[in-house]
Amino acid sequence: MELAQLIECCILKIKMSRSKDYYSILGISRDADEKQIKSAYRKLARKYHPDVNPNNKEAEDKFKQVTEAYECLKDADKRKMYDSYGDRWQDAHAYQAQGGDMGGSRFDFGDAGSIFEDLFGGFQNTDGFGDVFQQQGRRRSRNDSPPQDINISIEVTLEEIASGTKKTIEYTALDGCNTCSGTGQVRTRRSSKCSGCGGKGVVHQFPGMNMKCSACGGSGSTNIDNCPTCRGKCTIHANRKVEVTIPKGITNGKKLRVPGRGSAGSRMKIGDLYVKVTEKSHPVFQRNGDNLEVKVPVSYIDVLLGAEIRIPTLTGSVSMKIPECTQNNQKFRLTGKGMPTLSKQVGDLYAVIQVKIPKQISDEEKNILLNLREISGVTV
Ligand SMILES: [Zn+2]
Ligand SMILES: [Zn+2]
Repeated sequence: MELAQLIECCILKIKMSRSKDYYSILGISRDADEKQIKSAYRKLARKYHPDVNPNNKEAEDKFKQVTEAYECLKDADKRKMYDSYGDRWQDAHAYQAQGGDMGGSRFDFGDAGSIFEDLFGGFQNTDGFGDVFQQQGRRRSRNDSPPQDINISIEVTLEEIASGTKKTIEYTALDGCNTCSGTGQVRTRRSSKCSGCGGKGVVHQFPGMNMKCSACGGSGSTNIDNCPTCRGKCTIHANRKVEVTIPKGITNGKKLRVPGRGSAGSRMKIGDLYVKVTEKSHPVFQRNGDNLEVKVPVSYIDVLLGAEIRIPTLTGSVSMKIPECTQNNQKFRLTGKGMPTLSKQVGDLYAVIQVKIPKQISDEEKNILLNLREISGVTV
């Protein structure tokens, strides 16, 4: 260490002895852990926040102090510097880094926005408290929007489910902007006024407290501008056409995921498309899991005498024998004529006999039935 450095170092150590005590400002012990630091800060920040104490200079000063203390102690490296050099740790830091510009970087607010959203976000729905920070959070993250999933419902027939099918779905979504690779910004030849700070180089963070604009590094001008294609939004509207394969035997209400076909957020990150498959009700068949049920009207004569009848299935009708004296609502199982399942098995079809009574009978039929009544003695 050269002499000049040594002297500088000694001066810092002397300054330290008169320094603010971040630990006592936060009311914590010197060996407090990260959780205790955060919890102490949250409590004090809520208490002294300018929104809660309008026009209260004392509270504002307190608030600045606790924020400064927290910003330092929450960061392990900065905390180590502070423990060695006191609240001149930034100067020591700059000195160690041989930056030369001792006063150049006052403390860095870093993720202060997110801390405040975290602190006050919970109140927002009740009385708008904390709106300022929400807005600041949004402004900061304007070019950092997350991708979104898209949900779409489609209706398919039982026949389509039984055979499996493909469906073309059309919808609008957001695509990542190619011009700016989804960053919302492009480099320009000439430098222009920084849009982050309006050319001031600083951003108003809390009442009476400014921070260096991160967009322009405090210079007030940049050669970065909003992307002309997406106007800084990182995404553009797009009409999509996606073909979706509906697997054989899919169950009602099931969602199919099509990766990467949702809406883009910033930086070309893209969400997924979810297609909810809803089964249209069928005029003939009722689905019951993997099984189907069909009502089959049969004349009263055929149920009494037994007969060979036609049963509709999803793949055409088949014939089936019913025995003598088949009862109304009697069920017959046709194995393997139900729905295919995703596991490649096939359900059964149940034919439910519905006895058909004629609306009219001829005189001849009537005579026969009167005879029949005579013979069988059936009167009810
Ligand atoms: Zn700026
Ligand atoms: Zn763009």
